[in-house]
Amino acid sequence: MKLLEEKIILEGNVLSDSVLKVDRFLNHQIDPELMLSIGKEFAERFKNDQITKILTLESSGIAPAVMTGLILQTPVLFARKKKSLTMVDDLYHSEVYSFTKQEKTEVSVSKKLLNTNDRVLLIDDFLANGQAALALIDIVNQAEASLVGLGIVIEKTFQNGGDQLRKNGIRVESLAQILSLENGRVHFVHEEVK
Ligand code: 5GP
Repeated sequence: MKLLEEKIILEGNVLSDSVLKVDRFLNHQIDPELMLSIGKEFAERFKNDQITKILTLESSGIAPAVMTGLILQTPVLFARKKKSLTMVDDLYHSEVYSFTKQEKTEVSVSKKLLNTNDRVLLIDDFLANGQAALALIDIVNQAEASLVGLGIVIEKTFQNGGDQLRKNGIRVESLAQILSLENGRVHFVHEEVK
């Protein structure tokens, strides 16, 4: 997605050979117009898949997920990282090992909000080693819902999450694919095939 790639080049910061900081438009400050364009793009790609629910992970997945849900007219559910006092329902739990924080977090979703009739689209901000995606897939499986696919805003293809998921037959749609962050520069996958 050209608009997103331009934004990454203009406002992203390469923190190391493996981490990109995008706190000017996605991870801290949010660009609503860009999020709407992202939502439209995901909605276009999954419009024929009878999605009934979008599932994401708080907090950075919420903005792109909400915009996608707005266009697809589906509810958006986010897995919570901290249990709130109001979460008194039965919960599905899974564990995520965070790539950026290097720690394990338990994530939870209320059983009454996800069930076997749901056709689920997972949305997340980044795909690196696939840990966050695997935790969300685990929750979809616990609910015996149908997984339609995964919509990722930024995939780093030099980490193996995307490869593993695709090898397991999971549909992964990424709006920007980063081949490398070496030497402080962002190289996109499609630059390679030019
Ligand atoms: P994974 O679970 O696929 O290893 O990593 C994905 C999760 O880690 C995302 O939900 C995202 O929050 C975080 N993450 C992974 N790589 C990056 C990165 O380069 N930059 C930022 N800002 N977050 C990342």
